[in-house]
Amino acid sequence: MKKKQLRPGQWRRCAGETDISMGMVLRWRKHFAEKGYELPPLRPPWQRRARNFLQALSKHAYDLFRRCSQAQIDERLAICQACEYYVDEGCVKCGCKVSSRKSQLISKLAWRSSECPEKKWPVLVYPGKPKDG
Ligand code: SF4
Repeated sequence: MKKKQLRPGQWRRCAGETDISMGMVLRWRKHFAEKGYELPPLRPPWQRRARNFLQALSKHAYDLFRRCSQAQIDERLAICQACEYYVDEGCVKCGCKVSSRKSQLISKLAWRSSECPEKKWPVLVYPGKPKDG
């Protein structure tokens, strides 16, 4: 049987995309799951997303802010777009945006030191071992 679809506001609440607490998000998810709705993947809470971003930024700084070539960005994006964690131009595993349209200054795909949390795309440099390139 096909599951019912949530409206956009309900979808964002169930995905943890709003300011409401995680306890409230889980209650919303339980409520809609019991009513037979299809639920979105649960994004990490904003505190975890902020921590992930700061960790990635510190590795990027340690890598001397080196960026990927456009071909490497496109290769990473293609892998993300085929991934089960790719939802709405973002990765629900780490909470980062993974869109080529995002500014390359803040795009996870464009930072050479970035890593896929599922190790699906290759690490171009290991943070702590900056190389020329
Ligand atoms: S970063 Fe990794 S886990 Fe996240 S969407 Fe891309 S391939 Fe999937």
